[in-house]
Amino acid sequence: MSLSSKEKSLNSTVMGIRNNWTREEIAGIYNQPILELIYEGATVHRQHHDPSEVQVCTLLSVKTGGCPEDCAYCPQAARYHTDVQVHKLMEVEEVMGKAREAQAAGSSRFCMGAAWREVRDNRDFDKVIDMVKGVNQMGMEVCCTLGMLTHEQAVKLKDAGLYAYNHNLDTSEEFYGDVITTRTYKDRLETLENVRSANISVCSGGIIGMGEKEDDRIGMLHTLATLREHPESVPVNALVPVAGTPLEDHARVSVWEMIRMIATARIIMPRAMVRLSAGRVRMTIEEQALCFLAGANSIFAGDKLLTTPNPAFVEDQAMFQVLQLRPRASSVK
Ligand code: SF4
Repeated sequence: MSLSSKEKSLNSTVMGIRNNWTREEIAGIYNQPILELIYEGATVHRQHHDPSEVQVCTLLSVKTGGCPEDCAYCPQAARYHTDVQVHKLMEVEEVMGKAREAQAAGSSRFCMGAAWREVRDNRDFDKVIDMVKGVNQMGMEVCCTLGMLTHEQAVKLKDAGLYAYNHNLDTSEEFYGDVITTRTYKDRLETLENVRSANISVCSGGIIGMGEKEDDRIGMLHTLATLREHPESVPVNALVPVAGTPLEDHARVSVWEMIRMIATARIIMPRAMVRLSAGRVRMTIEEQALCFLAGANSIFAGDKLLTTPNPAFVEDQAMFQVLQLRPRASSVK
């Protein structure tokens, strides 16, 4: 008797962590009736996580704009004419002040983003190393997103106390060239491997709503779920179209599409923190509650996500009260 894909995925829930998912199995999970999908996501979530805890992360752009890359969604690419104000790398003390504010507001993870193609071994990188040391000493999980990275650079960051590195796959390998032409999917995967081999926690996810097909969304999840080790953190972003970028006229995705991505990521990568990321600003509390039920257990806090709008701290605090959720403590002491 052959098993349906739903039976197979429920079996996998019992079996635990798998890295040998097929694209067809993931499509079977992704395409099931939405209420069944939410139920399965919620079930897996409860087996691996405390559902009353949500990790609150703060993302700060420490170097903004002027990026040589051509990511079609990104207002920081120098070649697009957007309202982003270019800003050189911030000073270490200024960043420490922002990290202290984030910690006081309940964030346990502080992520610093620089609009670079790749890390260069120069004084700016030395400054970032000092930022990482400082935030780590505050007892927060410190994360960076700095572009491509060699193994040696990853080791330097690890030695400074880096907890996690974000490097999104963005979309499927097949659709990647429609969004970015200045680097390859293989480059992306190499950086993830460099991060992993330096024993840094991997944060990698993608964006929906860029004109990709559902099969591309499934393809990206398949790549993540068949890595040697699953990313510890999987951000799911909805495109926030920004005037001046090639994707400025794209329609916004529905909350149901976000929920499908979140629940599928939760089921196939049970231990990962699944992060409800860009696009949250347009969601009601009820919609966000469905995302948490489906398996999201991490959010970005603060009124800016690098350069795009995000709900303010006070709104999130009110939401946590209504939903009786609590911020997860830092795992760094
Ligand atoms: S997403 Fe990152 S790499 Fe791409 S253009 Fe924006 S800042 Fe540069």
